[in-house]
Amino acid sequence: MDWEEQLSQAGWRITTPRRVVMQVLEQAARPLSPQEIHARGHRLHRSLGLVSVYRALAALERAGLVRRVHREDRCNSYVLASPGHHHLLLCRRCGRTVEFPGTEDLSSLIAQVEQQTGFRVEDHLLQLVGLCAPCRNL
Ligand SMILES: [Zn+2]
Ligand SMILES: [Zn+2]
Repeated sequence: MDWEEQLSQAGWRITTPRRVVMQVLEQAARPLSPQEIHARGHRLHRSLGLVSVYRALAALERAGLVRRVHREDRCNSYVLASPGHHHLLLCRRCGRTVEFPGTEDLSSLIAQVEQQTGFRVEDHLLQLVGLCAPCRNL
């Protein structure tokens, strides 16, 4: 299933900004900020505005097609997301990311936190940070 089918099945329309953002991210070798996506997308589609890029990213993230990369400088960037439960490993030096399957078992942690706080936990965010192999050898 390609991303357009995935988006339609999730009940989202395929709009020009969403298509351009996906096209830019499919060609990207590393995570891109909304400004970088806008600069590249603008070359493909002249009337693409930055606000449309932000809106497209929000929709694509909610539909599970892109993933937000949380960085120490608080400047978020985005990569394509594989379907299903995955998390990201971020290289803090070069900014490259790798996805890994979310097979972790948080059930005992969640049970403990729920008991201590009275919350009902619904979801989690997890991102690992480190140095990739080339950066380790610098
Ligand atoms: Zn690196
Ligand atoms: Zn997980």
